[in-house]
Amino acid sequence: MKGKPYMDSILNYIDGEFREPYESLYLDNYEPATGTIYGLIPDSDASDVASAVVAAKGAFPSWSRLSNDERCSWLEKIADGIENRIDEFAAAESRDNGKPLHLAKTVDIPRAISNFRFFARAITQWSSESHQMVDVGINYTLRQPIGVVGCISPWNLPLYLLTWKIAPALATGNTVIAKPSEVTPYTAFLLSLVCKDIGLPNGVLNLVHGTGPKVGESMTLHQEIKALSFTGGSATGKRIAAVAAPMFKKLSLELGGKNPNIIFADCNYEKMLATTVRSSFSNQGQICLCGSRIFVERPIYEKFKHDFSERVNRLAVGDPLEASSKIGAVVSLPHMQKVLSYIELAKSEGGRVISGGEQVKLTGRCENGWFIQPTVIEGLDYSCRTNQEEIFGPVVTIMPFDIEEEVLAYANSTTYGLAATLWTENLSRAHRMAEALEFGIVWINCWMVRDLRTPFGGVKSSGVGREGGVEVLRFFTEAKNVCISY
Ligand code: NDP
Repeated sequence: MKGKPYMDSILNYIDGEFREPYESLYLDNYEPATGTIYGLIPDSDASDVASAVVAAKGAFPSWSRLSNDERCSWLEKIADGIENRIDEFAAAESRDNGKPLHLAKTVDIPRAISNFRFFARAITQWSSESHQMVDVGINYTLRQPIGVVGCISPWNLPLYLLTWKIAPALATGNTVIAKPSEVTPYTAFLLSLVCKDIGLPNGVLNLVHGTGPKVGESMTLHQEIKALSFTGGSATGKRIAAVAAPMFKKLSLELGGKNPNIIFADCNYEKMLATTVRSSFSNQGQICLCGSRIFVERPIYEKFKHDFSERVNRLAVGDPLEASSKIGAVVSLPHMQKVLSYIELAKSEGGRVISGGEQVKLTGRCENGWFIQPTVIEGLDYSCRTNQEEIFGPVVTIMPFDIEEEVLAYANSTTYGLAATLWTENLSRAHRMAEALEFGIVWINCWMVRDLRTPFGGVKSSGVGREGGVEVLRFFTEAKNVCISY
């Protein structure tokens, strides 16, 4: 559709300017909690990507030649700019995504600020290696920025995931073309306002809005975008890998998950129960790290089932703006339909819904919003589709197990390998299981504790290019060995 006036329509940010898309086409931006359109998003295409590449190439020589201290100072200014407008950012994230406002304000936006601060400081402490060869010479490694890099992110943690890519890419001296999910673009637009306000040099960061098949694919195809950092679904990751491979692009792919939450009878029960409610339903279950398959040791299975469903039934589904709401809206109408279809699939596979299972119809402001009850299902085999495919919504399954080997086989049975959670007070078992679980992250007696210095990401179909802390800086550089003979 062509553009029409809404209060909150957004524009691309290219070469330091706010630009209409070349074709003047726009997409509707929906508020999931109300089901209404509140703004328009540029429906950009290859021409917009091409002009962003020209801008980023133009900015690269001077940006890459800045000292690390100077780039650190720019990133700190961006962090300050977000912090000064934290309420506006949090409100935008909640409106775009449907997540409770308090979650956006206490988790998502502060973590986005931390991304800029962490990599601002990391670049000032970063060093490269040198290797001496006795009587022969010395080698040293030059770590140079790649040039123009692309960052593509999904809708579930929109600003946090995008800035986790942008910050290290800029810190190392690259210039960036970023594409947020078209479903949740507004915080990225606010980020471009911050960059304009602080006077970030033109072309250093460019934000091109639009769909994956048009903007994302054009970025993957563009010869001048030398590296891509992508977070999203495994099918999209596969497509990007196939398109990028013949051009030998450097890729980081953070993909989907089907995470197990393994609970032994000797766990700290209260801590486990409270955390399992969070790890199942935070952000309506739309966090790649949520545990969607809960395996419970048989002696406590019935007690867990009773206590867990009682707590889940108390979670208030409501307007994301209300402080009392624990569960907000799911991100879009198609996504709600997908999640509901998985609940039907679970029933057809023999599952019994013991909590939730239905769409929620609110009244007032949110009467047309997209809400689903937090849902718990039992009675399914570990190998059925419901237990193998990513649902990415407020739906978990529970099932009992008897011995370690059995639950390991259940946990490792999917094609995914992102994150596992384990509850036990038995130290030997904790270490044994951590080693045997085929996942990139294992949390023991906790969930979603993040330290930006540690490697993050999954194995198997959950991704490649797992890095942490300053290692992320390596991804955004090319290593060159220089050898000097004595
Ligand atoms: P998608 O894979 O559909 O989209 C992710 C991003 O890729 C979006 O910006 C999308 O654009 C874009 N895109 C779509 N098609 C292409 C293409 N052909 N070329 C380039 N870019 C493209 O994922 P969702 O947005 O639905 O996000 C949910 C998924 O993300 C889940 O699978 C979840 O597990 C995963 N995820 C993984 C995380 C991790 O760290 N491993 C963290 C968070 C989420 P558009 O939105 O416009 O379609």
